[in-house]
Amino acid sequence: MSNPKRGASIAFIGLGMMGAPMSANLLRAGYRARGADLSEAARAALTANGGEAFASAADAAAGCDVIITMLPNGQIVRDSLLGPHGALSKAPPGALIIDMSSSAPLETRSLGADLAARGFRLVDAPVSGGVKRAVDAALTIMAGGAAADVDAAEPYLGAMGSKIFRTGALGSGHAMKVLNNFVSAAGAMATMEALVLGREFGLDQHVMTDILNASTGKNNTTEVKVKNFILSQSWGSGFAMALMSKDVGIAAELAKQLHLQMDTLALTSTIWNAATASLGKGADHTEIYRYIDQHAHD
Ligand code: NAD
Repeated sequence: MSNPKRGASIAFIGLGMMGAPMSANLLRAGYRARGADLSEAARAALTANGGEAFASAADAAAGCDVIITMLPNGQIVRDSLLGPHGALSKAPPGALIIDMSSSAPLETRSLGADLAARGFRLVDAPVSGGVKRAVDAALTIMAGGAAADVDAAEPYLGAMGSKIFRTGALGSGHAMKVLNNFVSAAGAMATMEALVLGREFGLDQHVMTDILNASTGKNNTTEVKVKNFILSQSWGSGFAMALMSKDVGIAAELAKQLHLQMDTLALTSTIWNAATASLGKGADHTEIYRYIDQHAHD
């Protein structure tokens, strides 16, 4: 089916581990990408792929009917849109904004109201699948927002992902995303503790991983991360520990806002925060193994 929007200009703000391959896939699909990032290296990578890159979000957004954000958190998304030199100072009225970052759902709702008051539309469309699936345009995307706005976003999302779910009202994609990462983070913690305990008992961790993957304990950590990034000690998944910690923290905060006591969630958030404080912001999230191994011997 032909895509009527093909050739449209898209402002893509945040050209990091995820934004770089996602913007490259928009270019590949025939869109024009005008990117913005604080990092000169990130801007150079987009230019090398055939896009145009700018230091300011405002300059990137000039003439773009669609603005995509892929930034570390919702506060930075808000600043990149509404702050000084923010995208909306130069974006055409009525532009569609798609926040694909993992942001906090209630903040997204309040951002949506502020944008609507200025005549802009917002869809939240966070992703799962990590860098590899971003490169392969095979991300899972969870889209929240008014149905007509999600309809308008869908062609662009389809250039970056292979599974697009509609989650409901604005903010529901962001809620779903942090709940997914809570489940993933809790599974990773349990896997790391099992690996450390098994090793101390004398089990071979490679054999343990094969058995978990052939048994009911398997999860994304056992299947994708343990051998590739943890036992190899490459720690190269491309998803920062600070970002995982942020996501679990957003889920824990959401539980508080809804007056729900969630003990596993609270403990998971505490442990990931402690790991990030201990290993530093540059650590990959797979280094949770190192933290749990050290902590086991405290
Ligand atoms: P990243 O740190 O690699 O990239 C973020 C980019 O944003 C950086 O290049 C940074 O220079 C840029 N930036 C920061 N502030 C800016 C600003 N004010 N204006 C312009 N650019 C700015 O992070 P990432 O791994 O690409 O993650 C981006 C988002 O996607 C996060 O919300 C994260 O939680 C989510 N996410 C990441 C993964 C993953 O595997 N890495 C998977 C799913 C979702």
